[in-house]
Amino acid sequence: MASKAKTTVTFHSGILTIGGTIIEVAYKDAHIFFDFGSEYHPETPLPDENLQTLVDHRWVPEMSGIYDARLNYSYQGETPQEFKETAVFLSHAHLDHSKIINYLDPSIPLYTLAETKAILEELNRDGDFLTPSPFAEKNFVREMIGLKPRDVIQVGEISVEIWPVDHDAFGASALLIRTPEQLITYTGDLRLHGYHPEITEAFAKAAFQTDLLMMEGVSISFPEREENPEEIKVLSEKDLIQRVVDVELENPKRQITFNGYPANVERFLQLVEHSPRTVVLEANQASLLQEIFGKQVPYYYAKDKINPDLNPELEVSYQTLLADDEKYLWQAVADFEQLQAGGLYLHLDAQPLGDFDPAYAVFLALLADHEIEFLRLAVSGHAFPADLKQIIAWIQPKLLVPIHTLKPEKLENPYGERILPTRGQKIVL
Ligand SMILES: [Zn+2]
Repeated sequence: MASKAKTTVTFHSGILTIGGTIIEVAYKDAHIFFDFGSEYHPETPLPDENLQTLVDHRWVPEMSGIYDARLNYSYQGETPQEFKETAVFLSHAHLDHSKIINYLDPSIPLYTLAETKAILEELNRDGDFLTPSPFAEKNFVREMIGLKPRDVIQVGEISVEIWPVDHDAFGASALLIRTPEQLITYTGDLRLHGYHPEITEAFAKAAFQTDLLMMEGVSISFPEREENPEEIKVLSEKDLIQRVVDVELENPKRQITFNGYPANVERFLQLVEHSPRTVVLEANQASLLQEIFGKQVPYYYAKDKINPDLNPELEVSYQTLLADDEKYLWQAVADFEQLQAGGLYLHLDAQPLGDFDPAYAVFLALLADHEIEFLRLAVSGHAFPADLKQIIAWIQPKLLVPIHTLKPEKLENPYGERILPTRGQKIVL
């Protein structure tokens, strides 16, 4: 009797770390991978971005037959299995999930939601977002196949259904992966306190009693912090917009600027729609809003590069913004030393993101030197611990694998088994 085919799952990277998740699901002669980013350690920069350097420092995993064969890299792992069909899926545009897509073998198809494809192409407009390919122009972005919610892609006998979820990168998705014997679920990054908790819930219910759930647990990585009275606690994306509006109303005669994370395009849209002052975005960000939502908004150029897609009638001059202290709430991205002393800058999950990045202290010192008040209003892209429990309760997985977290042991599964794999481990379902 022929032995039954087995589904295997290999955790190449993204275990016991936040970022750089690359997992492989294989069945017979087909296999798929998700995602394709790298780890991020701004405190210990690498000498270069060569693939071999990234592998040597474990920012990306050792893998065979996946990377562009023209890159100078030699695979040192076990003798690999031969596959006839391969595909890669991206859950969302954050760098820890997408940064090295230009290093993927050009002949392997890469699938993602259409919004994520658009965001990546726009963010890499100047070639400083993704790791550049040495074989193309600086702002090259490899081909991506943009999907609609709930599209199904067949790779051999594996089928992959893509579900939108709420995260602080617009166009984020989760995957329902089916082999003839199993239903396997990958959450990507998700939450219940953004603008669309209902899409996260719909996905979770579609994954009901999945055989294997690979679930992000970023928020349980950190110890519960003592409440800091100095820090403003923001409970949701909606709450954050209200805080910004309050700050504007409390400061009628003062320069107010802000910055955020570009992929969170919906937050920019909400600011535009709710701010009492006229919101002016940096041109690349305005272009992204136009591309994703078809919305034209006032913008300015921080660099002199003209964007022909933008409506020239909506341009506000940089000099006007620098001189303003009452009419505009505008996105500052550079030249912070030119902002007005006594002004207020709102840091809405912009880069540098926080203490772990050495650039953060430098940035705070620069603002302090120029007497610009810094106010941080932050909302996580990741489900709060109680919401992680709720999502697991909706799914009731037979087997749970916590990933994308420093403390996987803190995520429990009251509905079945749980395993805590190590980096590189392969499991057979
Ligand atoms: Zn993310």
